[in-house]
Amino acid sequence: MIDERAIQMYFASIASGSSGNCLLVGNDDTRILIDAGVSKKRIEAGLRSYGLSLSDITAVVLTHEHSDHVKGLGVLSRAISAPIYGTRGTINAVRRMQSLGKVNDGQFNIIKPGQDIVINNVRVHSFSVPHDAADPVDYSFFGEGQKIGAAADLGYFDDEIVRELSGCDLLYIEANHDLRMLETGPYPYQLKMRIAGNYGHLSNEDSGQLIGRVLNEGLGSIILGHLSKENNYPDLALKAVENELLQDFPEFGERERLLQAASREEAGNLIKIRR
Ligand SMILES: [Zn+2]
Ligand SMILES: [Zn+2]
Repeated sequence: MIDERAIQMYFASIASGSSGNCLLVGNDDTRILIDAGVSKKRIEAGLRSYGLSLSDITAVVLTHEHSDHVKGLGVLSRAISAPIYGTRGTINAVRRMQSLGKVNDGQFNIIKPGQDIVINNVRVHSFSVPHDAADPVDYSFFGEGQKIGAAADLGYFDDEIVRELSGCDLLYIEANHDLRMLETGPYPYQLKMRIAGNYGHLSNEDSGQLIGRVLNEGLGSIILGHLSKENNYPDLALKAVENELLQDFPEFGERERLLQAASREEAGNLIKIRR
């Protein structure tokens, strides 16, 4: 008998931005959270809006230990029994964070950057990114011939990262700041240097250039994420990325594609890969 359910991959941003990150990637059988940087309550509310609950979570994968990615992990972990994956550096840093309270050690699973793990019918691939954390990674997800890439918190991109994000059907990519807003904004000099540096975050222009390198026929949805509250606006990020893309791909606007910025405040729609 043929299983007629569509094992279509989907993506949703439950929270995205410098104040908290939690993404959902999955399909009908497998639901993976990337990071838990907002409260359990917000994660639950986001899941509920997609008709899901905490007990539907198959696994949590962590990118790195910065609080905007893990501050809800303690409470979340005590409410679910799903495994939590991260690199050794990330897990060790999380273990030392007293603010998270007790996390059941048995839930942690250490992965090596570059290693693939199989979670039900989804293959999860991690890859190292340049960022000022112990051992940060971002992820790509493969299922039924579909690929979703999710990359934030990286100071720059190189050919290796371009390779990791090539061939995606859906791409979530950091567009953290507008360089001019960052330069003229209220942040102290050291913090400005950190954000704009090689181990900080991608600017809107960087983001557009990276998308240009991985643009392909199948890439139907592009979601800009991890926008800074102080140094960016969704419209500005979208415009800047579009401008970058139009320079190299004048036909970019002709094909119907979804290009949107993830909201900092509210959970976004569940985006199914269009085929
Ligand atoms: Zn970070
Ligand atoms: Zn972050």
